[in-house]
Amino acid sequence: MKALVYHGAKDVSVDSVPDAKIEKPTDVVVKITTTNICGSDLHMYEGRTNVKKGTVLGHENLGRVEEVGNAVDTVKVGDYVCLPFNIGCGFCANCERGLTGFCLTCAEPGSAGAAYGFAGMGPYSGGQAEYLRVPYADFNCLRLPSDVKEKENDYVMLSDIFPTGWHATRLAGLKPGDSVVIYGAGPVGLMAGLSANIQGASKVIIVDRHPDRLKLAEKIGAVAIDDSTGDAVEKALALTEGLGADCGCEAVGYQCQDRHGHEVSNLTMNNLVKSVKATGGIGVVGVFLPKDPEASNAMAKKGQIAFDFGGFWIKGQHIATGQANVKAYNRKLRDLIAAGKAKPSIIVSHELPLDQAAAAYKNFDDRKNGWTKVILKPAA
Ligand code: NAD
Ligand code: ZN
Repeated sequence: MKALVYHGAKDVSVDSVPDAKIEKPTDVVVKITTTNICGSDLHMYEGRTNVKKGTVLGHENLGRVEEVGNAVDTVKVGDYVCLPFNIGCGFCANCERGLTGFCLTCAEPGSAGAAYGFAGMGPYSGGQAEYLRVPYADFNCLRLPSDVKEKENDYVMLSDIFPTGWHATRLAGLKPGDSVVIYGAGPVGLMAGLSANIQGASKVIIVDRHPDRLKLAEKIGAVAIDDSTGDAVEKALALTEGLGADCGCEAVGYQCQDRHGHEVSNLTMNNLVKSVKATGGIGVVGVFLPKDPEASNAMAKKGQIAFDFGGFWIKGQHIATGQANVKAYNRKLRDLIAAGKAKPSIIVSHELPLDQAAAAYKNFDDRKNGWTKVILKPAA
């Protein structure tokens, strides 16, 4: 089959690889009809993770079930399913509590959490390919309603960014009527904004510097802050009576940059401490890695940031972090899409065949104007 393979920093191509197949009776094989490129793929693409050369990337996957293992009960050939980017077993101590982003069974020994085509998250091949093997299929497949063909570009966002944006607001403790400040207007930050609006936020503020992304922030009903034209914190405080927002979300991660494009890995976290009010919560879904050997400073190489702990402590704030437990949200978010109450595909800019994936990676990685979210159609 054809699949997008990682060969090294900024070097990916669509190659022929062995077909995905049933390896355990609890697996299914899905023919991928839509698969996205994610900001998380870019950390790998840029050579800023320990992902192995030869890995097939792609963790935002939707498709039609082609083959079903003998022990699979509820999923049938022909079902359209969306797969959470995290692979869970359903029966470990973490999955049992709904923390499927930290599955102990599917993870590499000594760690928690597994995903398709992802650095440090197990041996699972990704779905930027014609076919994908899905382990523990009864648990991991979210079956989609009959309007799937019409709303496929919405439903595919259930694999990651819509639940992840939602998770950011839950980690931040957002309540109806709250104001929220979100750093990052990439797909995840935009989905956090969409989620905050659905949950009844009184004001959603999103910070970035790319005009196309800021325009989308406004389209989803947020106030956009362009930090290329002035200090983001000052602008956020001016919008929140000088006190800061009730809560905040980090949707950028360890490669965050200052307005001149220099990486400053503590910038968004320290800006959040300043732009969220005293006692407010901060939800961090942007990825921070325990090791970043390619970083330019010694602390960042060890995955550490100079965090304004004093400012954070004196304000009595709290932080929650981590991978989104997609399964905790995806069923209800699917129902919002089906009911016409959420349209996450609003951020899609490009719909391309799989064989254009390498060029798409380059454009998305360059944050080229107009490349806000790329979806690939391997079955087209
Ligand atoms: P993206 O790279 O497309 O978007 C990041 C945005 O942040 C860009 O638009 C960039 O201009 C902006 N940015 C950079 N520095 C900034 C700063 N100092 N202030 C404000 N904005 C700044 O990525 P994405 O797909 O939106 O993902 C965002 C992050 O979320 C990534 O780190 C990704 O790995 C992570 N992620 C986490 C989960 C999870 O489960 N926790 C899931 C998906 C993605
Ligand atoms: Zn993703």
